[in-house]
Amino acid sequence: MDILYRNGKWYASIVLEIDQDLLKNSRETDTGIIAIDLGCNDAIAWTNGVENGLVPAPRFLRKVDAENKRLSKAKHRKRSPNFKKKIKASRRWKKAQKQVSRLNRKVANQRQNWVHHETTRIISGNSTVVTEKLEVKNMSAKAYIGKYKKQKSGLNKSILDVGMGMIKDVLKAKLDDVGGKYFEVPTRKVKPSQTCPKCGHQEKKTLDQRVHLCLNCGYTQQRDIAAAEVMLAWYSNNLQELGTSFSDVDSCISTSHTRKTAGSMKQIGRAKRQKSQVIPGDVETPGSNEVSQG
Ligand SMILES: [Zn+2]
Repeated sequence: MDILYRNGKWYASIVLEIDQDLLKNSRETDTGIIAIDLGCNDAIAWTNGVENGLVPAPRFLRKVDAENKRLSKAKHRKRSPNFKKKIKASRRWKKAQKQVSRLNRKVANQRQNWVHHETTRIISGNSTVVTEKLEVKNMSAKAYIGKYKKQKSGLNKSILDVGMGMIKDVLKAKLDDVGGKYFEVPTRKVKPSQTCPKCGHQEKKTLDQRVHLCLNCGYTQQRDIAAAEVMLAWYSNNLQELGTSFSDVDSCISTSHTRKTAGSMKQIGRAKRQKSQVIPGDVETPGSNEVSQG
């Protein structure tokens, strides 16, 4: 056991050796298939084909925005360290710095707790999770294009506040524990946000259009739930004609199929290449607080 002192708090780190089979049995799951759409307005829109629902974005960062600004301002008024000029930070600066990092840690803890809570709920009834390919890192890259800079940083804040990347990573890990399957729909081929889950008709939606209303068949559904329904339908091969069929997609990550060779160099190389791929056009309007689904 290690005892750590970090950012003014004490931590005990306990390492346990657990039998892999035991771990797999410790997490309960069911045989359901669920499709989830990750967004900024509603963090998670989900459907299992029978039921659907929305999980509102927790906005932990937004909630402490005022306090964050107040603490940063207070810190800037104090004497900061400058190593070149050999100026040491004042005691008050150090104290203010502690308060800033305490707040950051609080937000990070809240987010992590929320992500674990929601992902456990998803996994508890479903061993297959279908979602769309989303280049979070690319989207949250800094924008240096003049007037879009600030607007895009607002979008980044939303994406990072929801913790989309974290949700996916935790989902993958938990699915791996139960021998489940994680599948990503190729967004640009399938276009979940522009496609009718009932008839396959495609029509571009603007970002503020929160409802899917099909001009072809009249199907009406909340936008993000409709997108999740498209993913589920595509996964179940019902909307195959929209893109490549399920079997010839190489961009999917199926934990249950790759687990045996997950550590091989070939696969790590492939994962790295996938990571570095840049998909332009994932963000439609930098000025809006909404992520386009293609
Ligand atoms: Zn339709």
